[in-house]
Amino acid sequence: MRLVRQNDEYRARGVKAVRGARGAAPAAVRGALALLAAAALASGCSAAPPSSGTPGAQDAQGGTRELEAPPARALDSYASRLRAAHHARVAAAKRWGLKGVPLTAPPPPARKPVITTREGFEVEDGEDLPPVFTTVPTEDRVVFLTIDDGAEKDPDFLRMMSELKVPYTAFLSNYLVKDDYGYFRRMRDLGAGVDNHTLHHPYLPGLSYEEQRHEICAMQDIMREQFGKRPRMLRPPYGNYNRDTLVAAKSCGVKYAPIWNEEVYVDHWEYREDDRSLHPGDIVLTHFRGKDEWDGTMVDDMRRFLNKVTAEGYAVARLEDYL
Ligand SMILES: [Zn+2]
Repeated sequence: MRLVRQNDEYRARGVKAVRGARGAAPAAVRGALALLAAAALASGCSAAPPSSGTPGAQDAQGGTRELEAPPARALDSYASRLRAAHHARVAAAKRWGLKGVPLTAPPPPARKPVITTREGFEVEDGEDLPPVFTTVPTEDRVVFLTIDDGAEKDPDFLRMMSELKVPYTAFLSNYLVKDDYGYFRRMRDLGAGVDNHTLHHPYLPGLSYEEQRHEICAMQDIMREQFGKRPRMLRPPYGNYNRDTLVAAKSCGVKYAPIWNEEVYVDHWEYREDDRSLHPGDIVLTHFRGKDEWDGTMVDDMRRFLNKVTAEGYAVARLEDYL
């Protein structure tokens, strides 16, 4: 019960922060874009021709002559692209055996929410250290997908996620990925975030400060070599950390230490909170695991994840867009 109560307070605070952070103008722009997107999707999904054009009045792109002023044409081509993207997602959802089409995330927030450490997860004097959080304070009906370790390197998984346009962030542990960084560069090139999950996946609080610093900062260096930049995020293995972890992480460029509020496996879900539900802004964890360890593939795991979040009305958003 304690966790639930704390999280309610946390979410209440988060909502307030978001309201304070967003101005009216960006909200109006977002609203207009959302309306446009909704209109485009609605027309894209029906068999009816574009509205109100007399026969022959349509140009090659399917727009009407009334829409030929440059800004309107730009909007029309934007709508066409949205329609095409939506059709591609419908086809991909069918191809990958999903029960529904994954929902499209809203545009990234114009002003980033203020991320603070979740209540009950603080370290002493930790105000200036990377925040440890399980949920991003947002009113958007989104969750964030994070995938850890890196043992399984399934090409079907890459295809599935890129065809469905589902964003995610991978937290990599060097000893599991060093035989094939190329796989994770392809993943990065397809739009995934790649971040730090230490060299050897140790229980960090059991190590000295210097040992922790090596586990975290040497991985920062390797990832910079492999991906061209240092990660901004560290996920401490098992979600375990102490003050030294966060001090060490900060010393080599880490800004955030996201953990998770739900975990999805190929055959079930686990929840941090007693209400056993998804909440807006929740971070969901899963792992790069395949049939050797699980009774299913990464594709099966993603099917379980996407079917639930879609059925409950959540879109999957990019964690990086909110930080
Ligand atoms: Zn891990």
